[in-house]
Amino acid sequence: MIFQDYESFRASDAAARVCIIGSGPAGTTIARKLAAAGVPSVIFEAGGEEWSEESQDFYRGKVVGDPYFDLDVTRLRFFGGCSNHWAGWCRVLDKHDFEPKAWVPDTGWPIRRADIEPYLAEVHDILELDAFRADVPISDDIRLVQLIKSPAVHFAEKFRDEIERSPLIALVLNTYVTELTGDGRRITGARISSRDRDAGTFVADYYVPCTGGLENSRLLLWSNVRSNGAVVPNAAALGRYWMEHPQFLGGDAILSDYSIFPTDSTNEAFFSPSPAAMEARQIMNFGIRLIETPYGGVKQVIADLACVAPDLAEWASAQVGQHLRCAAQLYVGWEQAPLASNFIRLSETDRDRVGVPRIELHWKKSGMERRTILEGLRLFGETLAQKDIGRVRIADWLLNGDDYPTDQELAGHHHMGGTRMSDTPEKGVVDRNCKVHGIDNLYVGGSSVFATSGQCNPTTTITALACRLGEHLGRVAGA
Ligand SMILES: Cc1cc2nc3c(=O)[nH]c(=O)nc-3n(C[C@H](O)[C@H](O)[C@H](O)COP(=O)(O)OP(=O)(O)OC[C@H]3O[C@@H](n4cnc5c(N)ncnc54)[C@H](O)[C@@H]3O)c2cc1C
Repeated sequence: MIFQDYESFRASDAAARVCIIGSGPAGTTIARKLAAAGVPSVIFEAGGEEWSEESQDFYRGKVVGDPYFDLDVTRLRFFGGCSNHWAGWCRVLDKHDFEPKAWVPDTGWPIRRADIEPYLAEVHDILELDAFRADVPISDDIRLVQLIKSPAVHFAEKFRDEIERSPLIALVLNTYVTELTGDGRRITGARISSRDRDAGTFVADYYVPCTGGLENSRLLLWSNVRSNGAVVPNAAALGRYWMEHPQFLGGDAILSDYSIFPTDSTNEAFFSPSPAAMEARQIMNFGIRLIETPYGGVKQVIADLACVAPDLAEWASAQVGQHLRCAAQLYVGWEQAPLASNFIRLSETDRDRVGVPRIELHWKKSGMERRTILEGLRLFGETLAQKDIGRVRIADWLLNGDDYPTDQELAGHHHMGGTRMSDTPEKGVVDRNCKVHGIDNLYVGGSSVFATSGQCNPTTTITALACRLGEHLGRVAGA
């Protein structure tokens, strides 16, 4: 069932035991899992069927610290959420991303990758993915890994008819949940604004914010202000440990034979460190994306090299005309250390049209990250040199310790942390079942629960966690 506003939903006899907030990949997947378990749910979606300036305006906010995207540009506020413009790159977090890194504080999840693996077959159906190839070690330090460029499923488009026909899912558009009310043990209601008018409180048995990796923190922070801490009673970590995947052009490579790496339809190859290499160099996870440049680019790289590294240029020149295949650009994206000092808070001066404080995002890249990319590119270069299949030139800004370039992509639009998963409320907001510590009927969906970010795009893992949470809630609510 799809309703265009809260009024028409209230006028219907649709019942819901679970109140899901947000219709992106996380919210839609949880509702479908609940329907499969016979549990009726409602999805309140703040936006309408299409993009609109009026709806995006609610997402405006302020960034303090490193340069970042405008907060109303890095996400979409309408049916389907950010799946309406995601790029479709898919990979599940690595096994070792769930495990603690002894050399980085606050790493490690309370669950392991094995806990989400049972849901991967469903995730493949939802995101329309082929099977992943196993990682291929290139050396002891570097692995060739696969990111699948999927058809970038738009959840609204793919699941609209199914939701429309379902007697167990009520999707209510143009319905903004402005706060949750609670008594310190349970959530007692969701406060609704529909078409910018206060529409009262909706009561369900369970509540699941799935409003995205920035907005989940905002909703819970504001609910806590309004309820004197009765929505998230243990709020030490609320809004904190926020993470992205920064990404920059980190250098070039000249390769004697590109074809030794299996590439995908995009003709790109991805490389990551082995867990042993991360430990030995005391760095985080990273991904090097190798993009072939045209043959003219090869000559340019060799010419540049001749000035600064004549031996290298000689090696490269010797390959030309023999089996030299290409030059490649090396984009590097990486895992951020989870830091309490990267956080979301509520603006004290700026509110949206219906009075909810806007987000102030405090975000800075750390020294550990700088070391990660420098060491990462060195490891990659050493691997190519050992095998005599290529040479790497690290970008000047990185070698010279200059600031990050400001004319590049900056990051992946991956919003993680803020309501992170942890066994204790001191270090996290939700437990291993994605339930808020200390509150019986409040769960969280989406990448705000990520305890660490790994190096890969988040939506495959978000969808797996949503399948797991949907199944868990189906059991709890169905019982
Ligand atoms: C340009 C771009 C490219 C990307 N490319 C990739 C990629 O290649 N691979 C990848 O894995 N990921 C990618 N992502 C990230 C991906 O889109 C997100 O990880 C994913 O959409 C998150 O799903 P979600 O359901 O948690 O949140 P969202 O998709 O953000 O959905 C949240 C929903 O909640 C609604 N909402 C918000 N607040 C409220 C409220 N208070 N009340 C009611 N409803 C509310 C919103 O309108 C929205 O529909 C990309 C993102 C962007 C922006």
